[in-house]
Amino acid sequence: MRKIIVQKFGGTSVADTEKIKNVAKTVIMEKENGNDVVVVVSAMGHTTDYLLKMANDLSPNPSGRELDMLLSTGEGVSIALLAMAIQAQGYDAVSFNAMQIGIMTENVHSKARIVDIKTDKLRKNLNDGKIIVVAGFQGVTEDGEITTLGRGGSDTSAVALAAALNAERCDIYTDVEGVYTTDPRIVPKASRLDKISYDEMLELAYAGANVLHPRSVETAKQFNVPMRVRSSFKLDNLGTLILGVEKMEIYKPVAGVAADLSQARIVVCDVPDKPGVAAKLFTKLANENISVDMIIQSYARKVSNTNDIAFTVDRADLTKTVEALESLKADLGVTGEIQVDEGIAKVSIVGAGMIDRPGVASTMFTTLAQQGVNIKMISTSEIKISCLVDKADAQRAVQALHSVFELESDEVAEVKGDLPNI
Ligand code: ADP
Ligand code: ASP
Ligand code: MG
Repeated sequence: MRKIIVQKFGGTSVADTEKIKNVAKTVIMEKENGNDVVVVVSAMGHTTDYLLKMANDLSPNPSGRELDMLLSTGEGVSIALLAMAIQAQGYDAVSFNAMQIGIMTENVHSKARIVDIKTDKLRKNLNDGKIIVVAGFQGVTEDGEITTLGRGGSDTSAVALAAALNAERCDIYTDVEGVYTTDPRIVPKASRLDKISYDEMLELAYAGANVLHPRSVETAKQFNVPMRVRSSFKLDNLGTLILGVEKMEIYKPVAGVAADLSQARIVVCDVPDKPGVAAKLFTKLANENISVDMIIQSYARKVSNTNDIAFTVDRADLTKTVEALESLKADLGVTGEIQVDEGIAKVSIVGAGMIDRPGVASTMFTTLAQQGVNIKMISTSEIKISCLVDKADAQRAVQALHSVFELESDEVAEVKGDLPNI
């Protein structure tokens, strides 16, 4: 049986028609290798940012449904163009959006999870010898409503398709040459990793390394899909392989450093210190589909018998979170105010090598102290330590941590895409 390879090309890779022609060549090369090819594409260049800006110009709080209707159009443009480009080079290609295939998601707007992918149409077209081009980032509910998977979600579309089709591999083509020890835009001498484990990549992605959508790594791990991250522009470099930990050897305590500038911190002051309060508070947020990241509850003050609960959420969920908390205040008996801090960043170090190696946390805190960086919150997992710091300190913190854990390379990384300037 022929092997199936799923390829995914991000916004920079399909930013204009010349680049789309180039992508068509890469796709055809894979087909010429004797493989069946399914290609997932993102919207061209910064299209999604522009669409979002237009929505925000018209409404401070656009409805989730209409936002998804709008944002999903970006990918509709690039699939048709890429299919045409492949056809123009003499190969049979067909494009499909998520509705046509049946990329089924839960009924949630702006960050829906894929629950099922129908493969009949895909298999039929592959058997007919066609190259299939699929719109990333979008899905459809059982009721036929359009959803999107969250910013950067085309990676997840690609891995989920690879899992559903039992593909040999999922190749993520992007504007850097692989996964680096940190964002090469922050540290140009970041080192490219030849391979990284699912677990480390998952922590890095959740910590803000937006080279991969976190859920794509989660899906790859769950279904054991080998992933490769590589450059669309330099095909001689095979990039970074992401795979199970049993195949890895661990040399350094820290594999990578990441910063997440997309969160906000909320402090609920003077919360009654009694059972059930935290449960009610976070259940309310969960019911509103708000994901909470770092959480700290302070010691109870003896006189008032109250404590403070601080946590972080995505800035996009901030208004919704504050509204939910305000509506809950009286019921919970909260007497203090709800404070919001948008000027924060989460800086994290990640590495399977930190297990059983004492001193990693102290090195991180000492390094931040030497930089005069104040730590507002700390959270840890087995293979990650995160510190919440002032946004203005984030870049300096990442650079210092990258250096102290000896992650630098001799070469300067090449980054193709420009940052959105909207
Ligand atoms: P695409 O449009 O192809 O999906 P993205 O912009 O989503 O591309 O992801 C690629 C970008 O991720 C790079 O340009 C880089 O700035 C950023 N990035 C952040 N952390 C890392 C990392 N650890 N390794 C590589 N790139 C990273
Ligand atoms: N176009 C979407 C975005 O910009 C999805 C993606 O690129 O993965 O977030
Ligand atoms: Mg991306």
